[in-house]
Amino acid sequence: MRILVTGGAGYIGSHTVLELLNRGHEAVVVDNLVNSSEKALARVEELTGKKPVFYNADVRDAEKLDEILAKEPIDCVIHFAGLKAVGESVAKPLEYYDNNLGSTIALLYAMRKHNVKHIIFSSSATVYSGDNKVPLSESSKTGNCTNPYGWTKYMCERILRDTATADPTLSVVLLRYFNPVGAHPSGRMGEDPSGIPNNLMPFISQVAVGKLKELAIFGNDYETPDGTGVRDYLHVVDLAKGHVAAIDFAVEHTGTSVFNLGTGKGTSVREMVEAFERVNGVKIPRHYAPRRPGDLAEVYADPKKSANELGWKAEYGLDDMVRDSWNWQSANPNGYDTED
Ligand code: NAD
Ligand code: UDP
Repeated sequence: MRILVTGGAGYIGSHTVLELLNRGHEAVVVDNLVNSSEKALARVEELTGKKPVFYNADVRDAEKLDEILAKEPIDCVIHFAGLKAVGESVAKPLEYYDNNLGSTIALLYAMRKHNVKHIIFSSSATVYSGDNKVPLSESSKTGNCTNPYGWTKYMCERILRDTATADPTLSVVLLRYFNPVGAHPSGRMGEDPSGIPNNLMPFISQVAVGKLKELAIFGNDYETPDGTGVRDYLHVVDLAKGHVAAIDFAVEHTGTSVFNLGTGKGTSVREMVEAFERVNGVKIPRHYAPRRPGDLAEVYADPKKSANELGWKAEYGLDDMVRDSWNWQSANPNGYDTED
């Protein structure tokens, strides 16, 4: 099939484009490179021997989107494009609502005009309300988001659902990712955050490579086995494969479907740091710091529905995640700006 991948030059998007090409799909990427490098797509080509079609464009640009869809016959859309930094969304809520909701709405209009019937959306475990019990299932309560980024995901889910209700021929798959980490095992593709990373794994990797001095562990007084926060970390290659499974599901079902993409296994910050040190033979200087506002003690998925209905299960474990993150970071200390 021919898949339109918005945000396809980004971290998860580029790994998914690679997986799509490996499975015999064709990929048309639309990305304005606001948080990514075209080099990621060159690496996809290097690894697959296939070149994704690329448009440097903003998904909110309705005219441009119309032009692209008039030229490129598309069977299915995967919508990754969006801004994703939680802290920045608190400082710049309008930019986040504009970009994340605006791109989704523009895309749905363009799909309607060009008769594209399937869309897979990058949602997040952040849409779940903090007062649920873990593990979180797709029927756990949503809402009570703690930041504008989370609300954009919540609202985009709503927009997509309502659109699918109004057009019963449409198929919408909402994928709620838990914590994507890791990199392609080749070490040629990975996460390349701009500035100081907010997320745990890129922070640890940059400490390991000497770009940052020391990791601050946010809180050691949570009600968890070792007192540090617990999350469901998921290898980005597994996540990419989840999208391929979602395409197969989308073409066979109409209406809105929701799936968690996680491993179902909780890992604490301490366990993560210790695994990184053990597997990679490096030292991660660290200290305990106060809890980060808005953080929950434990977040992990119940992945049964994805296993049963998508036929998808995470295959990589924690050791693979820390190995591949280090493999990428150590070979590309400056991400895609590193000289080949
Ligand atoms: P990323 O920033 O690497 O990728 C997003 C891509 O979208 C970037 O290449 C960026 O340039 C592009 N983009 C942003 N706004 C655009 C616009 N208006 N028009 C065209 N392109 C635009 O982020 P990622 O980690 O790969 O995340 C992909 C998606 O998954 C995002 O929607 C994100 O919110 C969601 N998500 C990510 C995580 C995570 O932890 N990484 C967790 C849950 C959900
Ligand atoms: N974390 C930490 N130090 C950091 C970054 C994150 O201790 O520099 C912790 C954070 O408190 C949480 C876990 O690592 O318990 C995962 O945080 P991340 O920001 O990666 O993901 P999210 O908060 O979105 O689950």
